[in-house]
Amino acid sequence: MLQRRTFLQGAAAAGVLGLSACATTGVPSKARVLVVGAGYGGATAAKYVRLLSDYQIEVVLVEPNSAFVSCPISNLVLGGHRSLEEITTPYDNLVRRHGVRLVRDMVSRIDPAKKVAVLASGPTIAYDKLILSPGIDLMFDRIQGLKAAHDSGQILQAWKAGPETLALRRQLEAMPDGGVFAMTVPEAPYRCPPGPYERVCQVADYFKRAKPRSKVLLLDANPDVTSKGPLFKKVWAEQYKGIIEYRPQHKAVAVDAKTKTIKFEVNDDVKADVLNVLPPMRAGKIAVDTGLANANARWCHVNFLNFESTAAKDIHVLGDAIQTAPLMPKSGHMANSHAKVAAAAVVAELRGWPVNPAPMLTNTCYSFVDGKNVIHVASVHEYVPAEKTFKTVAGSGGVSSGPNELEGIYAWNWARNIWADSLA
Ligand SMILES: Cc1cc2nc3c(=O)[nH]c(=O)nc-3n(C[C@H](O)[C@H](O)[C@H](O)COP(=O)(O)OP(=O)(O)OC[C@H]3O[C@@H](n4cnc5c(N)ncnc54)[C@H](O)[C@@H]3O)c2cc1C
Repeated sequence: MLQRRTFLQGAAAAGVLGLSACATTGVPSKARVLVVGAGYGGATAAKYVRLLSDYQIEVVLVEPNSAFVSCPISNLVLGGHRSLEEITTPYDNLVRRHGVRLVRDMVSRIDPAKKVAVLASGPTIAYDKLILSPGIDLMFDRIQGLKAAHDSGQILQAWKAGPETLALRRQLEAMPDGGVFAMTVPEAPYRCPPGPYERVCQVADYFKRAKPRSKVLLLDANPDVTSKGPLFKKVWAEQYKGIIEYRPQHKAVAVDAKTKTIKFEVNDDVKADVLNVLPPMRAGKIAVDTGLANANARWCHVNFLNFESTAAKDIHVLGDAIQTAPLMPKSGHMANSHAKVAAAAVVAELRGWPVNPAPMLTNTCYSFVDGKNVIHVASVHEYVPAEKTFKTVAGSGGVSSGPNELEGIYAWNWARNIWADSLA
């Protein structure tokens, strides 16, 4: 603890964090991995670099938030089935049990040539390897009027769980019975393919209990439901008949917060009482600013063996920020899986060991269609050397036959397990 305090106090005093970490001669005696972002990818990577290096590699983790708030399960906060406290985990164990050096700050700039990162508060941190898992940024500029509507609190997204999740819940609570909740979905790829479809189930479930004359409109830019389509559509037709209306091929292009109107590329305008407008997404700003978003200027291409950016050496990018392999979702489970492959590769490279030539990834996404019943989609992904990408293993995974309570129990335990795996 004393050592940790000295590190931070000394750094603040000098305005510099760790000047001596850069490896100049092969394997550094005391290597430093800098992890940027302590969400699903970054928190897992920080812990696993410590574990897999037998606590020999120093890990500095930079994150602005005081605690981890999970997006998975956050739709249940909107539905009124869980509280924000239940989906929040402190970072204490990463520090206390695993010796991760946590710096509460933002990385404002990365210099890949000098191998240093600059914190928003001023100090710089040198690194041997940088693991970047900054999640997504919402591209507000793609929908006219949305940035101002968001900043004034009138039209929310709640696509990063936290205070905005509670603010959207309050809007639903304040809505009169008989009102309309309208949600838009951007064209794929976006964070969490089934997330919007789960969200409308949660809102409809709340309306059924508290405001039975109210309606949910789901306006999707995609030609069809992008995940678990037949399952969700069956739930909407049976459990939420007359409440949820699904309209595909509705690409939102503008909003008017004053009249609570959404404008579309080709369809008629839609007015509603509560608007939840999701714009297109891209890799978190720091990845874009560092020049790593080399796929359509939105996502980061990586070498799938070690998750190293194809644009910068010794920077490994994980999670939602990457240009995914075929059928690889932008999910928390997948970010956690990426993190373990990347952590193992980073440790191997710093130690001069061979990198695992055959990494595997897994994914499961559970969706709550009400307070108890759940449907899932699962897959296993293997690295295919000939194509230098991950592909799903034939016959692996699949989807539920229908919503059921047993999977509701699995889903909650999945969440508790992955939080423990990343943070405990
Ligand atoms: C409503 C909803 C439901 C979802 N449900 C599921 C589900 O059931 N199952 C599932 O697997 N996935 C689910 N997801 C998706 C999941 O949340 C994301 O895929 C996952 O969070 C991606 O992890 P990440 O590490 O890439 O990003 P994040 O978890 O968002 O972490 C990014 C972190 O980086 C930090 N950061 C950003 N920039 C900087 C910087 N410059 N300096 C320092 N720190 C920075 C941020 O503060 C943040 O903590 C859901 C998402 C939503 C929105």
